[in-house]
Amino acid sequence: AAKDHGKGRFATYDQELDRRSVQHAELGAELRQAMGSGELRLMYQPIVSLPEGRVSGVEALVRWHHPERGAIPPTEFIPVAERTGLIVPLGRWIMREAANQAARWTTNPLTSSVTMSVNVSARQLREPGFPEELAGVLAETGVEPRMFTVEVTETAVFESDAGLAALRGVHQLGVRVALDDFGTGHSSLGLLRSCPVDVLKVDKSFVDGVTGTAEQAAIAISLVQITNTMRLAAVAEGVETQDQANTLFELGYQLAQGFHFAHPLTPEEVTGLLIRTAAEDAKRAAGYPHGN
Ligand code: C2E
Ligand code: MG
Ligand code: MG
Ligand code: MG
Repeated sequence: AAKDHGKGRFATYDQELDRRSVQHAELGAELRQAMGSGELRLMYQPIVSLPEGRVSGVEALVRWHHPERGAIPPTEFIPVAERTGLIVPLGRWIMREAANQAARWTTNPLTSSVTMSVNVSARQLREPGFPEELAGVLAETGVEPRMFTVEVTETAVFESDAGLAALRGVHQLGVRVALDDFGTGHSSLGLLRSCPVDVLKVDKSFVDGVTGTAEQAAIAISLVQITNTMRLAAVAEGVETQDQANTLFELGYQLAQGFHFAHPLTPEEVTGLLIRTAAEDAKRAAGYPHGN
């Protein structure tokens, strides 16, 4: 009887569900095609050293330019890829593409210091053989493991023992492990001890608060203190203003990322940026031959 009661409501809910699963099925099918067709690209967002004011590394961010629908954001298609399992071949493609690009940069003396970070989803991480596969890609492309970072969310680690085991494997390769969007998932500070973490990416929602009240700034302040004590690196995510950048530096943050510094860029744009910095360094060195 209860069911009859809410029949109308259930019907619309079912329709909505149907409509959405059809869209997901379509998107999934199109994504499968897109992987072979050049519609997918990686953009690279600089991660900046605050004391030096220079690019320390980049984070690879996938983009899908659909021929009819235009740009589809990763927040829309990554979850679909996760549900359909397409994330496994997609993630494989992303990993290889990012490693190839990292190899281009690290073998050029003008750009060799830049590190590469790649997002790995929960499903991808717990796919059997993930660390071995990553090791293979790095060996084939000639990228040093220490120049490579795998970014995972806390949830990806919490969800399964397989996720944690895979992270241990990744860490053993000498690849760095970053906890992404830290503080927004099923956070537990205990994770910082039980899981092999090298980098904590402090979520934008906490970075937004650094120029606010003491209460709003509290979490960003505590997290940088914890990372300093534990000898982890902290990256402040989503920095949008000079004011935030200055405050983060004063709080002890060494690394930051956000539209204030740079949006996600094409590989060519990143190369340009790195080469300009190298040229400025060379000029400065020439102007001060005695090293002061
Ligand atoms: P994320 O890994 O936390 O990446 C940071 C996101 O914040 C990126 O969005 C970036 O463009 C955006 N962002 C950077 N600076 C700022 C800022 O100052 N302000 C604001 N409002 N946003 C900023 P994007 O590229 O849309 O990616 C969204 C999420 O999709 C990523 O969050 C990540 O979880 C996922 N994603 C992106 N690329 C990949 C990928 O290659 N593989 C996997 N598995 N997930 C990916
Ligand atoms: Mg990330
Ligand atoms: Mg993030
Ligand atoms: Mg975030």
